[in-house]
Amino acid sequence: MNEQDQKLLTEKMGECWHEPDSECALGREYNGGEMIKQKCLKCGCLLSTTYQIYEENRTFDNRDDMMDLYQAIEKAGKWDDFDNYSWNYRKGVKPEISHTTWLFCLSGEGYEDRCKMVAEFWGENESTPSR
Ligand SMILES: [Zn+2]
Repeated sequence: MNEQDQKLLTEKMGECWHEPDSECALGREYNGGEMIKQKCLKCGCLLSTTYQIYEENRTFDNRDDMMDLYQAIEKAGKWDDFDNYSWNYRKGVKPEISHTTWLFCLSGEGYEDRCKMVAEFWGENESTPSR
C-alpha cells in the first residue's frame, strides 16, 4: 500500500499521520550520550527517543490495523455499505472459503489487501454525496 492510502486511512480514523521533525532518533546520540527526541510536527507528540519508539504511523498490513479500520467503519454507521461493497469487491476470489473467513483474514493472510479494500471503499464514499 502506498503512503497516500496509509495517510488517508489514518486520517479517516481521526488520527494524526505523524510527520517527524527529524530522522529516526532511535539509537542515535550526540557526543557524550545526549538523548535525541523525535517529535511530530503536526500534533507535537513524542515519536521516539534514542532509546525507545513511542509512536509510529500505521502500516495497514496487520490484524490490529485492519480490525481498527473495521471498527471505524462500524462506528461511522457504514458497516452495511461496506459489507455489500466487500461482496462485490471479492467476486470470484477464493470461492472455497466463506466470506467471513476471507473478510477477516482468518487464514492469517491478506491483511494489507483488506486494508486496501477499505481505502477504496472510503475513496468511493468520498465522491458520493452524503445522505
Ligand atoms: Zn502527529
